[in-house]
Amino acid sequence: MTALFDCDYCLVGGGLQSGLLATALRHYQPHARVRILERTAQLAGNHTWSFHSTDVRPEFRNWFSQLPHHQWPSYRVRFGDYHRVVKLGYNSIEANQFRRFIADLAAASDAHLQLTMNADVKHLHRHHVQLDSDESISAHCVIDCRGPQPTMADTGLGFQKFFGWEVQLHRPWHCDSPIIMDVPVDQTDGFRFIYVLPFEPQRLLLQDTYFSDSAAVDPILSAASLTAYLQEHGHRDFTVTRTEHGCLPMPFAAPRRPSATALAAGYRGGWFHVATGYSLPLAVELADQVAQVPPSQAERELTQLRRRHQWRSRFGRLLNRLLFRLVPPNARQQIFRRFYQSLPESVIGRFYAHDFSQLDALRVLLGRPPRPLHFRRFLRSFQESL
Ligand SMILES: Cc1cc2nc3c(=O)[nH]c(=O)nc-3n(C[C@H](O)[C@H](O)[C@H](O)COP(=O)(O)OP(=O)(O)OC[C@H]3O[C@@H](n4cnc5c(N)ncnc54)[C@H](O)[C@@H]3O)c2cc1C
Repeated sequence: MTALFDCDYCLVGGGLQSGLLATALRHYQPHARVRILERTAQLAGNHTWSFHSTDVRPEFRNWFSQLPHHQWPSYRVRFGDYHRVVKLGYNSIEANQFRRFIADLAAASDAHLQLTMNADVKHLHRHHVQLDSDESISAHCVIDCRGPQPTMADTGLGFQKFFGWEVQLHRPWHCDSPIIMDVPVDQTDGFRFIYVLPFEPQRLLLQDTYFSDSAAVDPILSAASLTAYLQEHGHRDFTVTRTEHGCLPMPFAAPRRPSATALAAGYRGGWFHVATGYSLPLAVELADQVAQVPPSQAERELTQLRRRHQWRSRFGRLLNRLLFRLVPPNARQQIFRRFYQSLPESVIGRFYAHDFSQLDALRVLLGRPPRPLHFRRFLRSFQESL
């Protein structure tokens, strides 16, 4: 690679996408000089990234499986009297494990992977970036991985928002598999459920989650519902060791992208599943594809990948429009119940992986609109989501 530039790849932002890109680049191009520039004092923020095993295609596992992650062979959903064990592997990566992994990767890279913290990038261009400190760094390929776009709200949005606690219990939790939707009868602020990941018998992540019309998270209300949930399951004594909250955009229409001055990946480039808000499946695929070509071909690779996913993103926006515009907030839970009641594991897996076929989409949709859904309003939503 050329020495004209300070590095081959400059990844701006030190979150999920850039960590995955760096891991894939170390695998496919071990001699490439990669720099990650992160604005804060540490990589990876305060996240837990979950994914289905089917989100990561077998051919990506040769580099992805190095990443430390929790694995469960199945998970559960519970909607009142309806209960299902979904026999799809489920996994989670904790930010602190991810951070250590990337730091170790850099330490073992003979300076090919460099991590710079407290580096606030002010301007980004195709071949160079400028930091707040006025330092300038040149790269054969700059990739903008700075997380969500500030302008995303322009397109019309619903929100998936959550407030979570990591807790240490005084005795073991009753269930050793994740419960990704435990839906209480009381449906306030849209579709509401509790999400539970049992990392260890006495260490859980619990999230109070809403598919809501508003982005505001109410920590006091959520803390009360998490406390009540733990008490209902016989756990009065517990210690909260960490909190985690977030609000994922669920757009109704294609975002109006500002004219890009550099390539954009991760949330910044719109690489997320618009109907789940999750980005890991697309971030892994993007990392795999981009890392296999030289920096000069990264743009072409991203264009091809975007084309491959375009119709699925349109379909996701249609689902969001149906969910948030046409279904009254307190009826939203029926949509998710029917999704789990009517679909086999194979379709559920492909749906979450953003790898569904048109037939899968039809099956998701037929299980999705509540009856009676006015046909003309449905058609109008379809046109607006294109
Ligand atoms: C709390 C939470 C939980 C989530 N859980 C899941 C999940 O379970 N599964 C899933 O698939 N998705 C999940 N998501 C959605 C999505 O995967 C995450 O938001 C993911 O972190 C997005 O990756 P990213 O690399 O695009 O952005 P981020 O991981 O947010 O990284 C962006 C980084 O850029 C840095 N940055 C910003 N501006 C600058 C600048 N000017 N200069 C330098 N650095 C800058 C930020 O500090 C940050 O570290 C979750 C989101 C949230 C908020």
